Amino acid sequence: MKIRGNLLTQILIAFILAIILGVIFGNSVAVLKPLGDLFLRLIKFIIAPLVFTTLVVGVGSIGDPKQLGRIGIKTISYYLLTTGVAIIIGLAVAFLISPGKGVDLTMEHQDLTVTEPTSILDTFLNIVPTNPFAALAEGNILQIIFFALFVGLAITFVGKKAEPVYNFFEGFAEVMYKITGIVMKVAPLGILGLVAPIIGGYGLSVLMPLLKVIIAVALGCILHAVLVYSTAVKTFAKMSPFRFFKGISPAALVAFSTASSAGTLPVTIKNTQENLGVSNKISSFVLPLGATINMDGTAIYQGVAVIFIAQFFGLDLTFMQLVTVVLTTILASIGTAGVPGAGLIMLTMVLSSVNIPLEGIALIAGIDRILDMFRTTVNIVGDASAAVVVAGTEGELDKE
Ligand code: ASP
Repeated sequence: MKIRGNLLTQILIAFILAIILGVIFGNSVAVLKPLGDLFLRLIKFIIAPLVFTTLVVGVGSIGDPKQLGRIGIKTISYYLLTTGVAIIIGLAVAFLISPGKGVDLTMEHQDLTVTEPTSILDTFLNIVPTNPFAALAEGNILQIIFFALFVGLAITFVGKKAEPVYNFFEGFAEVMYKITGIVMKVAPLGILGLVAPIIGGYGLSVLMPLLKVIIAVALGCILHAVLVYSTAVKTFAKMSPFRFFKGISPAALVAFSTASSAGTLPVTIKNTQENLGVSNKISSFVLPLGATINMDGTAIYQGVAVIFIAQFFGLDLTFMQLVTVVLTTILASIGTAGVPGAGLIMLTMVLSSVNIPLEGIALIAGIDRILDMFRTTVNIVGDASAAVVVAGTEGELDKE
């Protein structure tokens, strides 16, 4: 088991330092921002080639379409089920804490341009790229997955003649892993540059009126991780939850700092393989898919947000409306892109499904980045738990 204690310690120190500097220097800590931007660019530049090459190799090495189908069904069922639980936890916590009762938000409404979320049908149609190279160039992960699945499958069907292609991608994937490793060496500095300006920018005064919302989202996230992921890795993969959370913690901290599942993907893949022992084959299939469609943290957040906004406007939701919220949230979280702030836009879809005024979004937009940090962390930890669970049941988990 290779847990890079050193890197994790450095990241943690950077994190604490970022909070201290943010609190002390306030807005002027923004001078550190370029460090964060540099790190973000570095990890984003890895994503498209990494996902493409590892997925081609992953699928090409499975070989058997039946096995691929089974892994696919397991992965998607796990994603849907855990997202369903997440939204219920989100609603329950929100009812418990009642974040929208008696709040006085005399704050000016945030400027917010709400772009229309794409419809569900379009979301599905968009999975098929009309030009796979454009998909790679634009970094459209779902389309890249689609392309890679086909290339990987076709490599298997072609057999001997496609061996050079397979070998090429295998070598390329190794190169991408190496680059990820090198980039991670500067992660502590990057995280310092990402987190300090956020802390510095949000004074306590911005956070106070909405503190209950933040507490509700954070509590929901912690409950979900502890209840669902611990149980899942223990039951299906016989992995101790402690080992699981420790192994995934560098990626969790990167997710917390960047608020982007897609951006964290290279680190999630690296941690899941090196620290948690999930095979290349499983992680390269389960994780890119998860970073795109599995958003448990976003579901928790949307549950809390719906109740908060409804309470704020004095609306009582009926049981049927709550069921509608659960269903639309599952769809909304699938459609949410793994980039900062996407969950807030998809919230419009959930609110309109039960006729809650969309202006409600402006109420929480001001603290969305803080909520985004929590939900993104849960999003990627959920993906990693799926990789461990699927690998555990497929005999693809290296326990050492
Ligand atoms: N930022 C989240 C993610 O990347 C998505 C969201 O906004 O909920 O996972």
